[in-house]
Amino acid sequence: MPQSTLPGSAVTTAVETALEACGVDLATLGGSHEARSCLNGEVLVTLPLATEADISAAIGEAHEAYLAWRDVPAPVRGNLVKRWAELLQLHKADLATIVTAEAGKVTSEALGEVQEMIDICDFAVGQSRQLYGKTMPSERPGHRLMETWHPLGVVGVISAFNFPVAVYSWNTALALICGDTVVWKPSEMTTLSALAAHTLLARAVADVGAPTNVHKLLIADRAGGEQLVDDPRVALISATGSVRMGREVGPRVAQRFGRALLELGGNNAAIVTASADLDLALRGIVFAAVGTAGQRCTSMRRLIVHESVVGALTEKLVAAYGTLRIGSPVAADTLVGPIINKASFDAMQAALAAAVEQGGTVLCGGTRVLEDEFPGAYYVEPAIVSMPGQTGIVQHETFAPILYVMTYTTLDQALALQNGVPQGLSSAIFTNDLIEAEHFLSVGGSDCGIANVNIGTSGAEIGGAFGGEKETGGGRESGSDSWKAYMRQATNTVNYSGLLPLAQGVKFL
Ligand code: NAD
Repeated sequence: MPQSTLPGSAVTTAVETALEACGVDLATLGGSHEARSCLNGEVLVTLPLATEADISAAIGEAHEAYLAWRDVPAPVRGNLVKRWAELLQLHKADLATIVTAEAGKVTSEALGEVQEMIDICDFAVGQSRQLYGKTMPSERPGHRLMETWHPLGVVGVISAFNFPVAVYSWNTALALICGDTVVWKPSEMTTLSALAAHTLLARAVADVGAPTNVHKLLIADRAGGEQLVDDPRVALISATGSVRMGREVGPRVAQRFGRALLELGGNNAAIVTASADLDLALRGIVFAAVGTAGQRCTSMRRLIVHESVVGALTEKLVAAYGTLRIGSPVAADTLVGPIINKASFDAMQAALAAAVEQGGTVLCGGTRVLEDEFPGAYYVEPAIVSMPGQTGIVQHETFAPILYVMTYTTLDQALALQNGVPQGLSSAIFTNDLIEAEHFLSVGGSDCGIANVNIGTSGAEIGGAFGGEKETGGGRESGSDSWKAYMRQATNTVNYSGLLPLAQGVKFL
């Protein structure tokens, strides 16, 4: 159900107002990089691109700042993150406006993205008093054996367009309380969201008197990202994006023995069993498959349905898709905003054509809408495709709203389908059968980093560790003990015995 309520220039005005509210001085902008809105394709603002020399200088300054920041007690470092959270709360609507304009998220999801930043800040502030190391019993009398955690240095954060600020904040809030400094290269498609979030952090830095260069922003293209990746002064590269990007970044960082934290693409499935509450499943599926116009790393892309309920469920799904309001993400009742650009639209069309060629049937969606009004933007009807199996295109992540539906007979078949793709990010089962649920969560069940019961694949909370296996890259960010990725561990043995007994009973001298 397409709808249009979006006067073009209103987007630019709203973004400029929001940027100024966040403290960005528009007079200092201008340059070769065009920050565009995916709502209508218009150029919002132009920005200068960082040169090779700028990038090198930024890394050097961040490293200098690290040498001071690492000596600030962790709970005091937490004060910076606490202040950032206050400013984010104050400017939640401003930042959400910019996220919507650049990434196309509907207002509720854009506000949710900023809330996620506030939540991780809260978490990190608490964590700043809990950078615990263990003490272990030593096998030698008069000895103490323990571990301590120290900051790593400069953390290079590379982020994707679809979470323009939240994923950066997962990294930054934790890195800062751990005593690291951060150099951030955001997606070229969401530079204004980055500028606003960075400016708010700069205000927090000034307010608490932290070293100015604890965080640096690089408005840079892919080559700039590569320079960050290759710089030996950057101790950890935390990179979020496509598997293609991870394949390039991972080996480059490994080549110089740096650390990499990779959060890459997903190909997330839900299993719907015969015992599932279909109405609950329906709501979970539609949010996961259609939310953020199918552009979440955790978006549901595959639906594996028991043969006894597949007819009823697909009928409900097609009906629900028919009621989705597609259009301006700032309109209160819109559920589906635009996808990011023409390349995404072309990839979606190519995937649908491949699916049909491989025996699939498009049950609904796939058509571009609002084209006359917004020729420079790509609004599409989310698609559902019934597939005879899981070879070919279903093995790939197409970053657009396409849901492939397949059937199964036994739970073992369903699990084989669920695990039978190269990616391993998120997964779900809808069931009211405890045994099926436990089997799904057991060692022989889902092989993903996220495995849910009776909720969809997307919409994770910050309290748990976030990340996935296989081609998703193996990284873990956000909650639980993800903070350890931003620190180095040292094992310490203290001898207060006055003697020198050797471990394992070794005699020497
Ligand atoms: P992308 O891979 O095109 O770009 C991501 C970032 O990497 C950008 O900042 C880009 O400039 C940079 N980049 C690309 N190649 C690089 C290189 N060789 N060296 C250094 N930097 C490089 O991804 P995108 O289109 O922005 O985002 C969508 C993808 O991100 C999807 O695959 C999605 O699943 C994934 N993603 C994963 C997670 C996760 O947590 N697992 C979260 C969000 C998005």
